[in-house]
Amino acid sequence: MLTGRRYLLAFTPEQAAYAETVGAICRTVWNTGLEQRREYRRRGAFISYVEQARQVAEAKRDPDCGWLADAPSHTLQQTLRDLEQACKTHGTWKVRWRSKARTAPSFRFPDPDQIAVRRVSRRWGEVRLPKFGPVRFRWTRPLGGAIRNATVSRDGGRWYISFCVEDGLAEAAPNGKPPIGVDRGVAVAIARSDGGLDDRAFVTPGEAARLRRLQQRLSRSLRVHGRNRGSNRRDEVRAEIGRLNARIRHRRADFVTQEAVRLVRDHGLVIVERLRIKDMTASAKGTVEQPGRNVRQKAGLNRAILSKGWGGFLLKLEHAARYHGAKVEKVNPAYTSQTCHACKHVAPESRESQAVFRCVACGHQDHADVNAAKNILAAGLAVTGRGDLAVGRSAKRQPPERHAA
Ligand SMILES: [Zn+2]
Repeated sequence: MLTGRRYLLAFTPEQAAYAETVGAICRTVWNTGLEQRREYRRRGAFISYVEQARQVAEAKRDPDCGWLADAPSHTLQQTLRDLEQACKTHGTWKVRWRSKARTAPSFRFPDPDQIAVRRVSRRWGEVRLPKFGPVRFRWTRPLGGAIRNATVSRDGGRWYISFCVEDGLAEAAPNGKPPIGVDRGVAVAIARSDGGLDDRAFVTPGEAARLRRLQQRLSRSLRVHGRNRGSNRRDEVRAEIGRLNARIRHRRADFVTQEAVRLVRDHGLVIVERLRIKDMTASAKGTVEQPGRNVRQKAGLNRAILSKGWGGFLLKLEHAARYHGAKVEKVNPAYTSQTCHACKHVAPESRESQAVFRCVACGHQDHADVNAAKNILAAGLAVTGRGDLAVGRSAKRQPPERHAA
């Protein structure tokens, strides 16, 4: 199965500067390619990846566009391929520009024949990449398979390389363990239908205060100096904010990975809320249907971060499930937080607070997120047509759907 391995790169200053250059070129190619695609669409026409790649190859020979040739050519082609994929998935008008301030540089080497990795010592590995030459990276874990491609990206001031690796493992047979429902909680990070609550502070109070101060300093500097002056200091503040955010992001990634693995190791079927498009455009107000579900007072920042990270959690979960013989079922999250699990009465008033659910019809009381997780479990079992404890049996009886490796 395909899996990812990420390592911290130790670029020389020259390599780091070159990586910035390649990132900038790829960003320009992305933006230009997107503009061209929109231009075509305005005329009711369409331009394909093949044609765009041909034009880039041609432009490289033009003296005015010679800078294009500074980047490894495969990274440019890959950028155009990613652009085509993004346009197909989201529509040409929804795909975003990559601005220097908002988008961290990232580029991919798609050809495994151009990527050579060797271990040089207990703690260091070396990867040879086109035009970069040998690059050292921290060998924190074995590669564990054949490399398919490699992506270089900057994250909070540090450069990383992510290898996509075929680990040669076959998908695990159904593990026959019981099902579970999981809710993205309001009061805690993750609530399970068996009553379990898992939480972790992703942001320490000190970090939250520091982030607030930095944000204030940034906006003050913009106000006082305008856009052009004082930009050096602003870049420093931006970099500091980036470093803090990266640290928080890594902590969250660790948490969701551990959480995902634990769930699929102990359960044959994990039922979760489907990702809502709304979540991606992080609204803090919640909806009429689920009042305050995205609103956080106490857990504020933590909740906002996990809410955004739900998509990442689902990806981790599905990835881990294939290794542990579990299935992931996604259900519509509507009303799961205001339905009484005992009597099925639906009322927003039953949700007394972020943590407490008390049914206005039957008086049933539960942790609000656990009640939601139980509803999610019930909804998932209804969708899959599996009775409560029959999951192990039916999973064994049915041939697994994607058993081929
Ligand atoms: Zn009730």
